[in-house]
Amino acid sequence: MKSLVKNISYAFLIFLLLAALFSLFTTHEKKEEISFAELVEQVKEGQIEKIVVKEDEVNILLKDGTKEFTYKQAGVSLEEMLKMYGVTEEQLLKANITSERKERSDIFWFFLASVLPIVLIGFFFWWILKQGQQGAAQALSFGKIRARRYGVGGRIQEKVTFKDVADLEEAKTELKEVVEFLRNPKKFTEIGARIPRGVLLLGPPGVGKTLLARAVASEAGVPFFSVSGSEFVEMFVGVGSSRVRDLFTIAKKNSPCIVFIDELDAIGRHRGAGIGGGHDEREQTLNQILVEMDGMERNSGVIVLAATNRPDILDPALLRPGRFDRRVVLDMPDTKGREEILKIHTRKKPLAKDVNLREIAERTPGFSGADLANLANEAAILAARRNKKEISQKEFLESIEKVLLGPERKSHILSKEEKKIAAYHEAGHALVSTFSPETEPIRKISIISRGLAAGYTLRLPEREKYLKTKTQFLSELATLLGGYVAEKLKFKEITTGAADDLRKASELARKLVMEYGMSRLGPMTFGKKESLVFLGKEITEQRNFSEEVAERIDEEVERFVKEAYKRAEKILKTKRALLEKIANRLIEKETIEREEFEKLIEEEKNKFGKRSKSKKTEEAKI
Ligand code: ADP
Ligand code: MG
Ligand code: ZN
Repeated sequence: MKSLVKNISYAFLIFLLLAALFSLFTTHEKKEEISFAELVEQVKEGQIEKIVVKEDEVNILLKDGTKEFTYKQAGVSLEEMLKMYGVTEEQLLKANITSERKERSDIFWFFLASVLPIVLIGFFFWWILKQGQQGAAQALSFGKIRARRYGVGGRIQEKVTFKDVADLEEAKTELKEVVEFLRNPKKFTEIGARIPRGVLLLGPPGVGKTLLARAVASEAGVPFFSVSGSEFVEMFVGVGSSRVRDLFTIAKKNSPCIVFIDELDAIGRHRGAGIGGGHDEREQTLNQILVEMDGMERNSGVIVLAATNRPDILDPALLRPGRFDRRVVLDMPDTKGREEILKIHTRKKPLAKDVNLREIAERTPGFSGADLANLANEAAILAARRNKKEISQKEFLESIEKVLLGPERKSHILSKEEKKIAAYHEAGHALVSTFSPETEPIRKISIISRGLAAGYTLRLPEREKYLKTKTQFLSELATLLGGYVAEKLKFKEITTGAADDLRKASELARKLVMEYGMSRLGPMTFGKKESLVFLGKEITEQRNFSEEVAERIDEEVERFVKEAYKRAEKILKTKRALLEKIANRLIEKETIEREEFEKLIEEEKNKFGKRSKSKKTEEAKI
């Protein structure tokens, strides 16, 4: 399309140029118009040097050099007309009349009218042919892979080194070793060690798999070919496997080198599990990869690096030793890792003195490297919007919520009534959480809507938790129901705002029974998860238990939820005054931070400070 516009504008330019040339040739010299009678007079008096007739235009050159012109009647020759006006033959001869049929401009117009269209049409056909050829070339190269080459002899991208990758120490060591293999194969082969054929990077999205591979590319000192798994998948049958062949041919030619297949899960699904028959295109592509990897000689100097988020859906054949014989697992960063990642992503940003990356890392459990990079960027944007020269801690903390919950929706203004409901709802969550055992302190309560939520309550995780206790789960369940209960207590009515909480609570309760063995059914798991290809989600849960057990599971789930409801209700009924107070403060200020929240609770405690001790111990047991 672009080239069409370009060609048209070229043609237009040429046309303009020709037009300009044309007007240059036909610039009229200065001439004076005279009447025919005057001309007759001049002829009779013999003042004429010569007369040139062009159609009806009569151009006259006088002996004194002046130029004139006039018009004659069409269809009659000038001589005849002059004779009618009484000019003699002799005088006519002296006037030296010639006529000119075709002028230069006529030739030009002829050219324009006949040659130019031909040229243009020819040009047009040539252009179409050229396009066609390109198309044909494209069709021919369809089976070719567009592997981007980096590293030695390749293009230079924004350079990423191992220094730009924080945390992930084990993964880095592993990959450095692989690089070492390629650089210095002799050292390893002489001692009888085999060079690995494939290295698989496993880990959830955003932990830095692609980043790490890019670091390898720039540090390996060998060519690095990068393709994405989705590039093998085309509409046309056979393209995928042909591209695999092509990729490995290129790789072998350039060995020693590294081939990086990103998002391997796009091709490497379970074979035979595809909907629409076993002979599915993906299967052929995958087969081809296996064939190529097996066919590669050991020590051929080609190492295949692949990355995936979903090892569970990869074909076991791919994971067999001898193919991807090394697996590097990348974990979500812990607090220290998060701090290091933040350090990397704030390296080039001006930070205020009060910035404490450790604190931010502590407040962002569950954030991946990508989330943290995003967080650092959001903080910078926020600071810039506030016309600051430096990013301060405030901006970082505010960005956490933005990354976590989506942007504040200022336009989504709650009505007065909705605000009131949201306030009691969130206060309910916060209070139940505070007065339940083994819970983290409340960090912030807000009724400013963010993302899809009308309000939110954030808790402060004090440290990373890998194991959770049943007590914690039960507190969690009660907290989830806190919003629902608070609404019911206050308004004798329930809104849709609690729907998400209820869904989460039911899911959690079901997990306690079916996966964690925390119910009366005892230490057993129920159901087998199957992930369905294509959808990539767990949509089927195979039943491996009887109808009777299913009923008991349902009973247990129900019991968990009901008990959680009772606990939440008990807490909120005994803390009714506090609930009112916090809700009212929320309506007034929209957000309550940790300090304020704790102060409110402390005040209330002091009011009833003379309560008996036994009551307090009972509370702790809830
Ligand atoms: P994926 O594992 O999904 O391939 P990426 O490698 O694309 O994730 O990571 C996305 C971004 O997150 C990177 O470009 C980088 O900015 C950031 N990131 C992730 N992990 C780290 C890390 N360990 N150190 C520094 N930045 C990281
Ligand atoms: Mg990636
Ligand atoms: Zn809620």
